Amino acid sequence: MAHEKQPARRRHIPQRSCIACRRTDSKRALIRVVRTPHQGVQIDATGKLAGRGAYLCQARPCWQKALKSSALNRALKTAVTVDELAALRAFADSLPEALESEDSDALPG
Ligand SMILES: [Zn+2]
Repeated sequence: MAHEKQPARRRHIPQRSCIACRRTDSKRALIRVVRTPHQGVQIDATGKLAGRGAYLCQARPCWQKALKSSALNRALKTAVTVDELAALRAFADSLPEALESEDSDALPG
């Protein structure tokens, strides 16, 4: 009778997908935008705000795509206001042009 060691420490990492490019990544690698009940749509840096959330990559093109299309409205089931859009655009401007990836040989086709 052999003892089989089982890997006891398997961590569950929650996966989310970007609403613009559909890339999935761990929840923490993506940026959450949330529609809060009382303060409208905002960026949820902590990932803890209550409300309906949507996730985007930390890359400007994904934000531009989401803000231009109705992807964000659909994901949040709301109409993002002009002011909220402006805030999201300003945030997008602070993001890098592309994801900082460790290896770049897996480009999406
Ligand atoms: Zn993306």
